[in-house]
Amino acid sequence: MSDLRELYQSVILDHNRAPRNYGPLADATGHAEGRNPLCGDEVTVWVRMEGERVADVHFVGTGCAISKASASLMTTAVKGKTAAEVTTLADQFRAVVTGQVPAPPPSDGAMGRLAALSGVSRFPIRVKCATLAWHALHAAIAGAPDAGVPDARVSP
Ligand code: ZN
Repeated sequence: MSDLRELYQSVILDHNRAPRNYGPLADATGHAEGRNPLCGDEVTVWVRMEGERVADVHFVGTGCAISKASASLMTTAVKGKTAAEVTTLADQFRAVVTGQVPAPPPSDGAMGRLAALSGVSRFPIRVKCATLAWHALHAAIAGAPDAGVPDARVSP
């Protein structure tokens, strides 16, 4: 178990230090911002949809290591997937980081890699750090860049 925790820790540190798919996406078809006032995390996610498929996805974010690593891992997990597959993955991810289901082993494909964030299930206040980018991605795919991320935003 501690080996697994060390692996997860190193994955998070790596993605925080060298985030993948980082920076605006020039030919995006949608983008959305998310804010997590509890921690001060901010993320913007851009997507380029080709039909139902996520052809490319980028993000820019400031905030804690969890929020940045989660956004980075997300971009590597969803590229090439359909909007429906992304929704399924987002639901599975939420179930893992809230501790509703056990984390799959690291060898278990995209979800196995995303399980690096499963440690936040022990820290409920950090769950939003981990799910923030997924909320923004959902809004970006929906093509409603100004709709925001209602449950991740500060109330006026
Ligand atoms: Zn955070």
